[in-house]
Amino acid sequence: MSQLIYLDNAATTQVYPEVLDAMIPYFTEYYGNPSAIYTFAGNAKKAVDHARTILAEGIHAKAEEIYFTGGGSESDNWVLKATAEAYSSKGKHIITTKIEHHAILHTAEYLEKKGYEVTYLNVDENGLISLDELKAAIRPDTILISIMAANNEIGTVEPLAEIGAIAKEKGVLFHTDAVQAFGHIPLDVDAMNIDMLSASGHKVNGPKGIGMLYIRKGIKIRSFVHGGAQERQRRAGTHNVPGIVGFGKAAEIALTNMEQRVKYETELRDYLIERVLAEIPYSRLNGDRTKRLPNNANFCFRFIEGESMLILLDQNGICGSSGSACTSGSLDPSHVLLAIGLAHEIAHGSLRLTLSEKTTKEEIDYTVDKLKEIIDRLRSMSPLYEDFIKKQSK
Ligand SMILES: *Cc1c(COP(=O)(O)O)cnc(C)c1O
Repeated sequence: MSQLIYLDNAATTQVYPEVLDAMIPYFTEYYGNPSAIYTFAGNAKKAVDHARTILAEGIHAKAEEIYFTGGGSESDNWVLKATAEAYSSKGKHIITTKIEHHAILHTAEYLEKKGYEVTYLNVDENGLISLDELKAAIRPDTILISIMAANNEIGTVEPLAEIGAIAKEKGVLFHTDAVQAFGHIPLDVDAMNIDMLSASGHKVNGPKGIGMLYIRKGIKIRSFVHGGAQERQRRAGTHNVPGIVGFGKAAEIALTNMEQRVKYETELRDYLIERVLAEIPYSRLNGDRTKRLPNNANFCFRFIEGESMLILLDQNGICGSSGSACTSGSLDPSHVLLAIGLAHEIAHGSLRLTLSEKTTKEEIDYTVDKLKEIIDRLRSMSPLYEDFIKKQSK
């Protein structure tokens, strides 16, 4: 197999050709500023409104509850910082989890420095929060619960409807970072009692640098980016019209095809998981077996260092990702893998493979075959593995 095998769709996705086609006229032809009065700008304005309607329908919200942002990270920053500010007279306590994306975690840490108190909920060995722990954490001064819809590393899908019901009953706002979930699994802000929701274009085959924040009508959080009066005075900046059009088109495709894509990806994911666990000794699956994103598989292999595995996979044209970020020589195992209770040395040997609806069974077979060779080779060079095998055979 000579071409690229892209199994890192949780990091970003391909912009579909139909999405690009939809965007191009808004660079070259209808380049007007949608806020302008003249008829020429009306095309751009109409396109922005159309995208807003599709995105709103995708989560059962109203168009006027959707605000365009520069991506998932901005939406997450906006929610936490602006809610904290707007509701500080009610209290300064926020609840989130230990396995959030850094866009939430680092913002929460920033707020802690500003005098807010944050409870980071634990998760069980599969990455699921405990509803009892959530209930017990809610206090009279709790102003926000922010719990991700689906985890970007291990794919675990949290019980959103149950969390929403608890938040509603206790009168606390509920935000969910749905960047991994939007367009991949069904979301309904009314049925799930979600007050605010973050999503991003480039995780659903749309362009990078465009995202949205859903804010339920009546919630009083203010602007995060100050300037012009765009987005009903809540998010300044000239609209990224091509980006918005692309995000809308990508969402339209994702929402229309969701059922068949979920079925296809789930079957292929399960095939991948079964082959790896059956054919590679000392391997384990991370994340819940069934409450997980249709396209996510995440493994740990004992006696393996994630980075070495990724480099060898890359030499075979396979793109995957590892939980341990090995930058500038520091080896930090993933906070998510530590939160599900893995030991450091096991967390280091993790591999995340995230599929798309275009991934084929042949690609999965090739990947598993190569992975077996790579793991054999790395283990044959590992003194730890050698010791382990010696002890086993005694
Ligand atoms: C990718 C991701 C983000 C950040 O989104 P960007 O659009 O890249 O800023 C936030 N949360 C989760 C869960 C993600 O997977």
